[in-house]
Amino acid sequence: MFIITERQYNIIMKQAQACYPQESGGFLGGKENTILGVLPIPNKNLGDRTETFALTSDDIDLAYRFLVKNRLEYLGVYHSHPRGIPFPSEQDLSHNQKYLFIIGLQDRYNPELYAWRVEGSKVYQENIKVISDFGATVIDIQTGKPKLSENISSREMDIIAAMIDGWIAGKEPYYKKLGPTNWDASTFSTFA
Ligand SMILES: [Zn+2]
Repeated sequence: MFIITERQYNIIMKQAQACYPQESGGFLGGKENTILGVLPIPNKNLGDRTETFALTSDDIDLAYRFLVKNRLEYLGVYHSHPRGIPFPSEQDLSHNQKYLFIIGLQDRYNPELYAWRVEGSKVYQENIKVISDFGATVIDIQTGKPKLSENISSREMDIIAAMIDGWIAGKEPYYKKLGPTNWDASTFSTFA
């Protein structure tokens, strides 16, 4: 099971809704099963962004610094399936990720977040519990999914965009920049 705060959950969902019908995504960091950091990444796919979400090695480097700076463990990449079911595609499974987080947007205004644990060729669904920012449990996705049926105003999107810009600007490393990491960018770039 994963735990995520309402604020972070909303960032992921609003990004996915705002980018629709293109795929969106980013990185999740945390401790054990608790998601404590969300780093949205613009889709870098040069082709059809409604079919594929792509990351560059610069994005991976940015995520690495984000995780180090915030002392978070890497949990996984999230990405949206604007039209398809929120189940990992063969391409998603080819990245040898332990967890895959997928937003299903078949109903754009009531998106769903799924977490999948990958063990070899088998995929298991992990429960996701959304807690309020004050720590009280408010929503269990498996039993009562939250309704995000409001349309997103451009003002709201501006606020999110400014927040994301702030995170990225705040990522100026105060420590010596570490080497290009253990990420294998060659096998870790595109999700379908
Ligand atoms: Zn996918």
